[in-house]
Amino acid sequence: MVNKRHIAVIGAGAFGGWTALHLLRLGARVTLVDAWGAGNSRSSSGGESRILRATYGPNQLYTKMAARAMQLWTEHEKRWGLKLLQRVGVLWMAGSEDDEFERGSLPVLKEYGIVYEELSCGEMARRWPQINFEGVRWGIFEPNGGFLRARYSCQVVAERFGAEGGEFKEAAVLPAGLESGCKDGVQLSDGSKLQADHYVFACGPWLGKLFPETIGRLIRPTRQEIFFFGTPPGDQFSAAKLPVWGDHQGRFMYGMPASDGRGFKVADDTRGPDIDPSTADRTVSAGGLQRAREYLGFRFPGMKDAPLIESRVCQYEDTPDENFIIDRHPAAQNVWIVGGGSGHGFKHGPALGEMVAGCVLKEKRAESRFLLSRFGD
Ligand SMILES: Cc1cc2nc3c(=O)[nH]c(=O)nc-3n(C[C@H](O)[C@H](O)[C@H](O)COP(=O)(O)OP(=O)(O)OC[C@H]3O[C@@H](n4cnc5c(N)ncnc54)[C@H](O)[C@@H]3O)c2cc1C
Repeated sequence: MVNKRHIAVIGAGAFGGWTALHLLRLGARVTLVDAWGAGNSRSSSGGESRILRATYGPNQLYTKMAARAMQLWTEHEKRWGLKLLQRVGVLWMAGSEDDEFERGSLPVLKEYGIVYEELSCGEMARRWPQINFEGVRWGIFEPNGGFLRARYSCQVVAERFGAEGGEFKEAAVLPAGLESGCKDGVQLSDGSKLQADHYVFACGPWLGKLFPETIGRLIRPTRQEIFFFGTPPGDQFSAAKLPVWGDHQGRFMYGMPASDGRGFKVADDTRGPDIDPSTADRTVSAGGLQRAREYLGFRFPGMKDAPLIESRVCQYEDTPDENFIIDRHPAAQNVWIVGGGSGHGFKHGPALGEMVAGCVLKEKRAESRFLLSRFGD
């Protein structure tokens, strides 16, 4: 056990919530602060669902982290007696033009012991007749992947953090003085001051505004639209009959079957325009809806002309190389910046939180690809 140092974690999304929980379990006194609460609708973690997969192209680090995260999600489901992950499997459809990502994933999946199947088009069509596999050459199926209940998981983590002895405050940390290293603590929007031994800023798409000099445009919030279409009656397009899928044909489209009585999710991974996560109006665009509909009708013919029953506008918090940021603030050894999930961070929450807690309390070094020095001066 490390002595009872006081740590303030700012931001209760997937990164901050899990970091706070791991810090607490290492023996620290932890205060978790969030402006609008864990998994709120403005946050990047605030959607219904997020994919959990280990297929990452030839990228060993994220497959390894995803493998650890899968273990931790599973352990916590058991520990808490709750369902956080729907293990419906994840299907990657490899295009006939370019399958470098999928091909490069195979040795890495093998190395980290991820269960997967390599499937021919004929086999995929036999298993999932709801899908039109035109333009697809082969696929990878990860049976232990699926989707996480995103907002719900954040709320559960914050609640369990409280039950294990953590303190939660709903307030915003004001930006004044942050770049000079929080020497006199941080000012909260309720007029109080929070003083701690260490500060971890896990503020997702807000990090650039809070740290304009250190982060600024290194984290770019981009506008992403998600569509939920109504399925025909029955379970043909539900989690009982279909996996999560990723489809690399030009644009990268992805989605998941209907579950929890909600619709069939379709999203385009292409980075959208800049967005302000505090003030943005979250109405989807007509163009985005049309593209989603065209895709849906082509790839899932039984869903052609399905009604839109829900939609969301969220934001990625993209770094230039899509790697996370886990590093100390250059002006203060006790201030950490954690973010840059870049559209793929949610699943890693438990593994990343464990990593960050080790850096803060056990002086472990973050992976060099997470350090700010990778961006140069
Ligand atoms: C549409 C979409 C689809 C995605 N799909 C996937 C997927 O399938 N799989 C996957 O793994 N990842 C996915 N991601 C990425 C993933 O959701 C994010 O990388 C991850 O949720 C980021 O978590 P975070 O904790 O860094 O940020 P956030 O969740 O945004 O949390 C930051 C928190 O900080 C708080 N905050 C901000 N400023 C302050 C302040 N001044 N004071 C106090 N609190 C403050 C906010 O209220 C917020 O709760 C997706 C993201 C989007 C938008």
